Amino acid sequence: MPGFDSDVLVIGGGPAGLAAAIAARRKGFHVILADAAHPPIDKACGEGLMPEALDALVRLGVPLPEGAIFRGIRFVEGDVEIDGRFPAGTALGVRRTELHYTLLHAAIAAGVELHWNTPVEALSVDGAVLNGEPVSCRWLIGADGGQSRVRKWMGVRVLDRRVRYGFRRHYQIAPWTDRVEVHWGPGLQMYVAPVGEQEVCIALLSRDPQTRVDAALEFFPDLAARLADAPWLSEERGGISATRRVAAVTQGRIALVGDASGSVDAITGQGICLAFQQALALADALAADDVERYESAHQGIMRRPRWMAELLLLMDQRSNLRAHVLELLARNPGIFRLLLASHVGEFAHSIRFIVSHAPAAVEAGRR
Ligand SMILES: Cc1cc2nc3c(=O)[nH]c(=O)nc-3n(C[C@H](O)[C@H](O)[C@H](O)COP(=O)(O)OP(=O)(O)OC[C@H]3O[C@@H](n4cnc5c(N)ncnc54)[C@H](O)[C@@H]3O)c2cc1C
Repeated sequence: MPGFDSDVLVIGGGPAGLAAAIAARRKGFHVILADAAHPPIDKACGEGLMPEALDALVRLGVPLPEGAIFRGIRFVEGDVEIDGRFPAGTALGVRRTELHYTLLHAAIAAGVELHWNTPVEALSVDGAVLNGEPVSCRWLIGADGGQSRVRKWMGVRVLDRRVRYGFRRHYQIAPWTDRVEVHWGPGLQMYVAPVGEQEVCIALLSRDPQTRVDAALEFFPDLAARLADAPWLSEERGGISATRRVAAVTQGRIALVGDASGSVDAITGQGICLAFQQALALADALAADDVERYESAHQGIMRRPRWMAELLLLMDQRSNLRAHVLELLARNPGIFRLLLASHVGEFAHSIRFIVSHAPAAVEAGRR
């Protein structure tokens, strides 16, 4: 490492920063990571790790954290229920703090140099300033979340930013299903993820910053009844669910990962998965000494989740459209399974489905 304190300096030690640090370290780089907070870092989150996120963890060499397996998604509105199982693989509900510990231990085992309680206040000519000390690096990774200062210091423009508000609370109750349930209400959704044998995470997403979990539960009497006697295991915690597109994710020797590099609405349950996939793609680009390669890889990673997020946000905003879509999906569960397969990256299953159903659909169209 001639001339530099490290090959890679990662700013931010959330899921994206730790994954990026582990991936870079596994390519043989010397990696320093700095975060303003101290582990375990908690955050308002629905705490669902989709099948692709688990695949990415395996590729990162990180053991799966403890949690509760779920095998599909269920949409619920009033009497309408649409249920779909993932075509392959399973997903995992994991407490955010548990995920952080798992990633932290993997980073330590990989040999990442970690600096907690270390806010990064400025970039320097060849790195950044940590605790008043300049640290030089060959590559700098901004993994400092949606409000990324690294992104601002780079001068990267935010092209699109739409905000919703998220809150979550844990309840002590045995999960009643191996699905993540998404309950649709007027301008809001509540979703339920199993995260332990006796624990579920309830997350609320809405456009109103004043709405909280208890008020939202009034729209979902069945869910409220289930939770009525369940003790809380955590205080309500809030956060921003942003749809954000940025003009670039690389600039010279600086790259952005995770929410710093743009995000899709939390209703997709894809934020952490995207961060892991970006971390792997970035490490490949660094190993090839070609940071720009990451720019196009990043676009590819974001394409499908963005499309799905737009569809779900449209359903959030237009209740008539939502009613039609839910009715259509309830009558044609195969379409829901197809959308689900596409959402979790099981294109082969989607295509097999289309091929097997296309003749019947064409025939129905002719009649
Ligand atoms: C309500 C809600 C529900 C969600 N549900 C899901 C879900 O079910 N599944 C899913 O996959 N995703 C979900 N998400 C999205 C997911 O939480 C994010 O995509 C994920 O946290 C992004 O990780 P990150 O590491 O990029 O950012 P963060 O988790 O925000 O981490 C950024 C880190 O950078 C540090 N930092 C910031 N500035 C500095 C600085 N100047 N110096 C040093 N350190 C700094 C912070 O301390 C923090 O630790 C949800 C989000 C919300 C709001």
